[in-house]
Amino acid sequence: MAKPLNILIVSSECTPFAKTGGMGDVVGSLPVFLKKLGHDVRIVIPKYSFINDKKHWIKPALKKMNVQMGNVLEQCSVFSTALNEIVPVYLIEYHEFYDRAGIYHDSEFNDYDDNPKRFAFLSKAALQLCSEIKFIPDVIHANDWHTAVIPAYLKKLFKNDPVLGKTASVLTIHNIAYQGRYSKYYYNYTGLPKEDFTSEKFECFGAVNFLKGGIHYADMVNTVSHGYATETRTLAGGYGMDYFLNIKGANYIGILNGADYSVWDPATDKLIPANYSPIDLKGKHICKKALQKQLGLRQLARTPVIGIISRFVEQKGLYILSECIENIIHNMNVQFAILGAGDRQLETYFGSLPQQHAGKIGCHVGYDNELAHLIEAGSDFFLMPSLYEPCGLNQIYSMKYGTIPIIRATGGLDETVENYNHDTGEGTGFKFQDPDGKAVYNIIELSLHTYFKMKPHFKKLIQNAMKQCFSWEDSAAEYVRLYMRAIENRSYTGDSTLLQQHLQI
Ligand code: ADP
Repeated sequence: MAKPLNILIVSSECTPFAKTGGMGDVVGSLPVFLKKLGHDVRIVIPKYSFINDKKHWIKPALKKMNVQMGNVLEQCSVFSTALNEIVPVYLIEYHEFYDRAGIYHDSEFNDYDDNPKRFAFLSKAALQLCSEIKFIPDVIHANDWHTAVIPAYLKKLFKNDPVLGKTASVLTIHNIAYQGRYSKYYYNYTGLPKEDFTSEKFECFGAVNFLKGGIHYADMVNTVSHGYATETRTLAGGYGMDYFLNIKGANYIGILNGADYSVWDPATDKLIPANYSPIDLKGKHICKKALQKQLGLRQLARTPVIGIISRFVEQKGLYILSECIENIIHNMNVQFAILGAGDRQLETYFGSLPQQHAGKIGCHVGYDNELAHLIEAGSDFFLMPSLYEPCGLNQIYSMKYGTIPIIRATGGLDETVENYNHDTGEGTGFKFQDPDGKAVYNIIELSLHTYFKMKPHFKKLIQNAMKQCFSWEDSAAEYVRLYMRAIENRSYTGDSTLLQQHLQI
């Protein structure tokens, strides 16, 4: 049995404080399960001005903290609260960087120009904080490019630090397409030495690439499903990082995300109008009625509803859906309940569909957590035609809600959904392969055929899906093993007593 670890998780997102997608859900739930395993885990995020202090019991912790960024000495304050009342969360307040309407971009979906500075600062401030609060982490867990500079900081700027000199690092890649590539001018702000601005570390075609430097320096790197770990090692799926991930060898692995069933369970969900369970689905019908009403869909109990909740970005396959959705609506007895925001072209297209197909397509353009829960509960199917998907959480939530996923067989989607077999009655959803409108059309036709003409099969599907359990308990235990391997790797370059302290051999 290993000793408890001191773990610091640093991230630009953490549910329920700040979230745009799956990374927020992961950082908002994994630490709770690590804590339950007995580890001292703490989180650092920015104090965005849109976070409600009162609602989240946020209190001042440190009035003033100096953070040296290159030649510039910045000054911030630190606040604190607790996640689920058990995990300490530190919020870095720096008005110039975090008093904005969004996390990464403005209301027009334009990325903030100074994002590399905003998140390099977060990374350095998180390390500085450890000294201030006298917390000696065994491992620091960085997430995506925003905090990927941390492993380099530990090995270069903090290598002789009394607090962080032996700390190991883990980098989780939630989506390899987002690498933090910016003008090399931003590299100076990090304060890292010039010798690290080389093509195997931070440099990439003359620019700085934060993820690449993180991959190089992290003691362990992981991504959020086994399938995506394999895909990202290939030319097609690696977005230029495949070579560097292959160099990591066994130090790059996949760990499937879990679902937080204290938030996403129809039996207890407080955000839906009626609760239900596999043995009594009456509440699901009430949710469907409420969903149809809220999105202006015709109140037809027997017409299946296909739900979609998505960031509106190319990755999610929504352009493919746009090729066929109007034919589907024209030829099939089905409704769509769509929620999403992002790409202006997609927002305009999907946002205009309810007028053209009144009562058959409902769409809310924006971010709305409560509506997301209602779509999960009130839909009969959930569509994810993603071009690639590192893990995907909505298909996992959907299964719990008895909402049958229709997915493209890629990455985490392929790993978590089993194609329904009409001969054996096994499976949890419907899968298709080709990333085109025809394939989406055909799979929806097959799904609706099962819904209308093979009712016992559809009932079986719902029961199979609702039985699935992707709890964080297993994944959190895998993360602990990942941290131990990072500590082991770190000890090879320094002092191996740290590892021996943790492994009671
Ligand atoms: P990604 O991280 O690529 O966005 P995931 O499937 O891993 O995709 O996670 C998406 C998470 O974000 C889910 O919890 C989903 O419900 C939520 N989400 C995405 N878009 C919206 C939206 N417009 N409104 C509310 N929740 C959203």
